[in-house]
Amino acid sequence: MSNAILVVGGGFAGLTAAIEAAELGRDVYIVEKTPWLGGRVAQLNKYFPKLCPPSCGLEIQFQRIRKNPRIKFFTQAELIGLVGSKGDYTAKIRLTPRRTAPHNVDFSLLASALTGEADNEFDFGLSKRKALYKAMPFAFPGRYVLDAKTLSKSDMARVAGAKFIDPTQESRDIDLNVGALVVATGWRPYDMTRLTNLGAGRVRNCISNMQLERLASPFGPTGGKIVRPSDNCPPMNVAFVQCAGSRDQNHLNYCSYICCMATFKQCLYLLEQNPNVRITIYYIDLRAPGRYVNVLEKVKAQPNVSFVKGKAAEVAQAEDDRVWLTAEDAVRGEKLKLVYDLVVLATGMQPSLAGVKDFLPLPLDEDGFIAGGEEAGIYAAGCARMPLDVTRAARSGTAAALKAVQTVEGR
Ligand code: SF4
Repeated sequence: MSNAILVVGGGFAGLTAAIEAAELGRDVYIVEKTPWLGGRVAQLNKYFPKLCPPSCGLEIQFQRIRKNPRIKFFTQAELIGLVGSKGDYTAKIRLTPRRTAPHNVDFSLLASALTGEADNEFDFGLSKRKALYKAMPFAFPGRYVLDAKTLSKSDMARVAGAKFIDPTQESRDIDLNVGALVVATGWRPYDMTRLTNLGAGRVRNCISNMQLERLASPFGPTGGKIVRPSDNCPPMNVAFVQCAGSRDQNHLNYCSYICCMATFKQCLYLLEQNPNVRITIYYIDLRAPGRYVNVLEKVKAQPNVSFVKGKAAEVAQAEDDRVWLTAEDAVRGEKLKLVYDLVVLATGMQPSLAGVKDFLPLPLDEDGFIAGGEEAGIYAAGCARMPLDVTRAARSGTAAALKAVQTVEGR
């Protein structure tokens, strides 16, 4: 029997669950499959409710983790097996090596000298990264990662003799004995290349809302300048396509909850950078829950922002770098075909477990959200349960932690 708790997923909900459980006196393990903690929030430029940069909220979480000896975390780690029952599970974790020293060494000079490159997953393909990399300056843990697959021949010779690097490290498995689990596996942006009528992945200068977050971030591919990917020019005329993939039985059959608010926030980013930019938001419904209605009102009050109630039917490449957008104006009953410098698809959130072959003894609903498991001492948190914003995801992390603590105390 164990009174330790395993938290699967090191995003905002998972970190909150881990900290709350540890501060209640439980031993907690976090397993996170990427090299750093922070999840999707770390990729944002700013987040609600206060529109602060991710470093401010995450840095507090990271400090609490650093100071709490009850929390142990594993990055590049995946849960690959679970046996046992409520109160007494053995979780098998596969650890992929970082291949760098177990303390913070600044490899930036060596990294910049390497020639091999891969698409930067953290920037959703808007930039390249080297084989030796760190996603962002406030990354936690602050250690670089060596991705051996991306090393060129000359890179191999360079890293072979480098101090604090061991390209030969192999994966290994460990077992953890825990009494309860919190599953906070989060979400991924809906694959926009599936939105074939909306030109995603084909039309230059048609990007997703998460790509726009990376463009706006000071740590993103353009140092925070929102520019068109094709020519690095600031867009003067931007369209947002709401519900891109959401509320559509061929894609995500639900409202993703956050993408209206993301668009309103991104209008403010664009206007901050260029007060003359013209923005059109194509929507079928606008969702601004609770006090966020103020943000909607603020955006509506901007003279350069217009709203068109109607579904975007097609996004296509114009002759130049611009983008055609065809939509139905449902209020005027008109078909519109207009050209824009940049089109942003407000793509929705899909639970990370959707379509993934998983061995967790958890029922998923038809969309891939966790729909049970509590009787087994396994508690879902954050967007693994339902689409949520950061505040609500953190609250659900707290709720899951309390249930997990009760489980291990009452075992
Ligand atoms: Fe559509 Fe807005 Fe719901 Fe997103 S939050 S699915 S854009 S209504």
